[in-house]
Amino acid sequence: GVPIALHIFFFQTVASPPSSNFLLLGPSGAGKTAFTTLLEAKSSLASNKSHSTHTSQQSTLVTVTLPPTVPTGSNRYRSVNDPSLKEAARNPIKYRVRDTPGHGKLRASQGIAELQAMSQSKDIKTRLRGVVFMVDTAALVDEATLRDTATYLHDVLLFLQKRAKNGSSSKRTTDIPVLVAANKQDLFTALPPGAVREKLEAEIDRIRKSKTKGLLDASADTELEDEEEILGNDEQEAFSFKLLEHEVGVKVDVVGGAVKGDLQEEFGSGVRRWEEWVGMCL
Ligand code: GDP
Repeated sequence: GVPIALHIFFFQTVASPPSSNFLLLGPSGAGKTAFTTLLEAKSSLASNKSHSTHTSQQSTLVTVTLPPTVPTGSNRYRSVNDPSLKEAARNPIKYRVRDTPGHGKLRASQGIAELQAMSQSKDIKTRLRGVVFMVDTAALVDEATLRDTATYLHDVLLFLQKRAKNGSSSKRTTDIPVLVAANKQDLFTALPPGAVREKLEAEIDRIRKSKTKGLLDASADTELEDEEEILGNDEQEAFSFKLLEHEVGVKVDVVGGAVKGDLQEEFGSGVRRWEEWVGMCL
């Protein structure tokens, strides 16, 4: 009866092939390549396999493992005494990360194209579970960098909004949550995650406003046929990630961390909180 069912459950969750895909987006220099390299290094340490090295020029797909102590959404009550932990240590949960190049003109088109392809996949093996949007929190004080980063994030979120709307009527689409990985928290000049959130929200609000204004100007003579979509729908209210979740159901979390530097104390190995976010999506 029960023990057999449990056995099958664990066998299926733990020994399942790598089929959970995450897409890593963000501007050049945010730390995406460093992050995938670190995840691979951590994974190969666990499995004694060597890992490859990457450059920021190509899009790469790496299979990595989730540390056994990180809880997963389907098994979120794993405790240290849980026998499934031992099993997980022997046969860790794997997931895949696709890194995208972040260079200027390439990045938006390639990143969004990748997002489109992965999010529309019907194959469960390539289905997209979440988007990690990485930002350099020490670089956001620069106006041009902030504008550039917010524009990219705006486009990613608008895509997910359209996807959520189109899917809601007949066939149910699964949610694709977004993690804004506020990287480089080790740097003295880094903005804390709360300030990163505020800055990005305010800048996206500005981008929304100028888009609406552009549309109004363009439609001065002609009637607008299709209503052009505004991120977060409600243009009266200032933009916030909460508004987006409320209005469209696209969830955004801003979480601090560091790929480099020594943040053992504060961030538990620097990328731990991001791994926990990944775990909750699994
Ligand atoms: P990408 O263009 O997004 O792939 O960015 P890279 O991974 O090439 O990283 C850009 C630079 O930022 C490299 O010099 C990294 O070593 C550095 N970097 C990445 N993460 C961190 C971090 O958490 N802290 C610090 N101080 N530097 C970082």
